Amino acid sequence: MMPLVAIVGRPNVGKSTLFNRLVGRRKAIVDDMPGVTRDRNYETVTRFDAPFILIDTGGFEPVSEDRLLQQMREQSRLAMEEADVIIFLMDGRAGLTPSDVEVVEMLRRVKKPVFYVVNKVDGEKLENEAADFYTLGVDALHTISAEHNRGVGDLMDEVVAALPKISNRADDDDITKIAVVGRPNVGKSSLVNRLLGFERVVANPTPGTTRDSVDTMFSCNKKRYLLIDTAGIRRKGKTTQKLEKYSVVDSLRSIERADVALIVINAEEGVTEQDERIAGYAYEAGKGCIFVVNKWDVVEKDNRTLGKFVEQIKTEFKYLAFAPIVFVSAKSGLRINRVMEEVERVMAQCTKRVSTADLNRVFSEAVDTHHAPLSHGRRVKFYYSTQVGTKPPTFIVFTNQPEGVHFSYERYLINTFREAFDFTGTPLRIIFRGRD
Ligand code: GDP
Ligand code: GDP
Repeated sequence: MMPLVAIVGRPNVGKSTLFNRLVGRRKAIVDDMPGVTRDRNYETVTRFDAPFILIDTGGFEPVSEDRLLQQMREQSRLAMEEADVIIFLMDGRAGLTPSDVEVVEMLRRVKKPVFYVVNKVDGEKLENEAADFYTLGVDALHTISAEHNRGVGDLMDEVVAALPKISNRADDDDITKIAVVGRPNVGKSSLVNRLLGFERVVANPTPGTTRDSVDTMFSCNKKRYLLIDTAGIRRKGKTTQKLEKYSVVDSLRSIERADVALIVINAEEGVTEQDERIAGYAYEAGKGCIFVVNKWDVVEKDNRTLGKFVEQIKTEFKYLAFAPIVFVSAKSGLRINRVMEEVERVMAQCTKRVSTADLNRVFSEAVDTHHAPLSHGRRVKFYYSTQVGTKPPTFIVFTNQPEGVHFSYERYLINTFREAFDFTGTPLRIIFRGRD
């Protein structure tokens, strides 16, 4: 179970600057997914001693001035309930504001590590300007410059030290872990009930690794499956707007622990922005992905309806064009058995290994057919490729210029591998390694 770190603070204090610095995101990938990940505000950070999920709580919705304080309260509450560690960011240039003071009062009552951080302290000389903030009377005040990477390393050392330790429970590789994710009311709990009712539940729900998560094991075709966080899926009784926010956080926590994500979409509503966030996360986390279009019973259909829906999904989720799509009704049970068939198929691809000989046959033909664009006027040469991992299938490609391989060329190689070896439903990764 990966711990969660939330960055909270007013707009413009530098939350996304800090977020991007910590994530060290690859801009090309972000730009390449229209509309989907550009506004991404959560990401798995793996480059410190302990990995964690980072959330920039500010990005959940656009802010209008009058709603600022209310939204900060909501943000902080979300962080207080969900996060393991909170970074409260303030703006050293703007000075201390009344809303900062109010949020600090709230955060004082939280029984979790909270880091109070003054940003935009770009140099020694500006340290004095942070003096105001000492009147808050918090135990430790950190001063950083997210933009100039000043003090960020020291802060993160402390943050990482404050994270709860992940228990190294040996993963049972025989069991396929499934996350059912999607917006509120798309029919996740109905689908879970169907899957469990339909198949035999082999174990009573057992408390999972989080305080309130419950995983349920069941069997299907003599294979064992774990449905992740069935309790979270069934968690009800919050306002719609709130559920909407939680659905992203819940989804990403479940996805993190899963092998395969069932991305549930409401056929009545079509694809929404929130669906795109959730799907984008499953993709980037390298999980097997299956679209489950639910409530198919209520859609008025002619012989083009299904085709049009497939088209919409392929357009909105270009990077997930390889993911199977199943049209179901959790209510009537229509095609529910197809869901488990797809899970099995996708799982086989996620764990598939390709022999180095087969891989290089395809690889050398691919690089001969389409040459990579020059990088800094030099030819990019490729030597060979080898698969180094599964879940998701991961390949190393040796080249003279690992930094010089354009993103579009990486995508070309991925598509070629996907087609040649029929990798259905699983993201693929390529790591470029230098060799002269
Ligand atoms: P957010 O709304 O809290 O996510 O804030 P942003 O990350 O978008 O930053 C708001 C503005 O502050 C941008 O113009 C940033 O370039 C600037 N900024 C962020 N961090 C720093 C910093 O450490 N020093 C200075 N001088 N400016 C910063
Ligand atoms: P969740 O919030 O994603 O877990 O959604 P629920 O499973 O609670 O379903 C939300 C609402 O949609 C409930 O009223 C369900 O009865 C209804 N629902 C779920 N699946 C279907 C379906 O396939 N067809 C129809 N017509 N309604 C459904």
